Amino acid sequence: MRRKLVAGNWKMNGNLAMLAELDVIAAAAAAHPGVDVAVAVPATLIAAAASRVPTLAIGAEDVHEAESGAYTGCVSAAMVREAGARFTIVGHSERREYQNETSQDAWAKAAAARRQGLSVILCCGETGAERDAGRAERVVQAQIEKSLPEGASGDWLTIAYEPRWAIGTGRTPTLEDIAAIHAIARAKIRQLIGAAADDVRILYGGSVTGDNARAIMGVADVDGALVGGASLTAAKFVPIIEGAV
Ligand code: PEP
Repeated sequence: MRRKLVAGNWKMNGNLAMLAELDVIAAAAAAHPGVDVAVAVPATLIAAAASRVPTLAIGAEDVHEAESGAYTGCVSAAMVREAGARFTIVGHSERREYQNETSQDAWAKAAAARRQGLSVILCCGETGAERDAGRAERVVQAQIEKSLPEGASGDWLTIAYEPRWAIGTGRTPTLEDIAAIHAIARAKIRQLIGAAADDVRILYGGSVTGDNARAIMGVADVDGALVGGASLTAAKFVPIIEGAV
């Protein structure tokens, strides 16, 4: 039985004052012990967030695949772990779009994070053009095939299916379309790692709100949500946690 996970992604938003939102989110998480709750914050906020709300899983939004070195502006998995991160997102569509990251990069980053004992949320998802061309399923299968790290297992790895055209747009796929992609994602993971795939959580991400969260998380094989915009305030994020109950 997979526990639901509701994970926030603050992206390049937030400051020390905004960490007060995490107090309320942590209280909601404590009130719903059947749901796992996590928030990925900008690297600059990880240490302050992790020490402010030690009961909440605070994570990074990305890590570099190398352990250290001449990579100006980047942060390693060891660095974010030392700051207090328990997990990291890798392969987010905004990294793919604006930093030209590939599934191979996501694979290397996931492996680096794992070496440092971090859990990983590995993102995949098609563009609008790929969906319109009827290629959504094949794109997601290929992304998983190229990025699933060695030793993948549900105790440290979560997949997030995030159709790029749904991120930050207020548009979501139909529940049937979400079910179809989650089913093919599960089948692909099973093909790669066998029965252990049944323990790997697959989140849906893309314009999840308090209004649609319960219906989306009620779809077969949807094990929670990765939430961008609606994770920035407790007022919007807490109803999503409640939708997972
Ligand atoms: C995301 O960026 O991972 C995301 C799902 O964003 P939003 O919820 O704002 O669509």
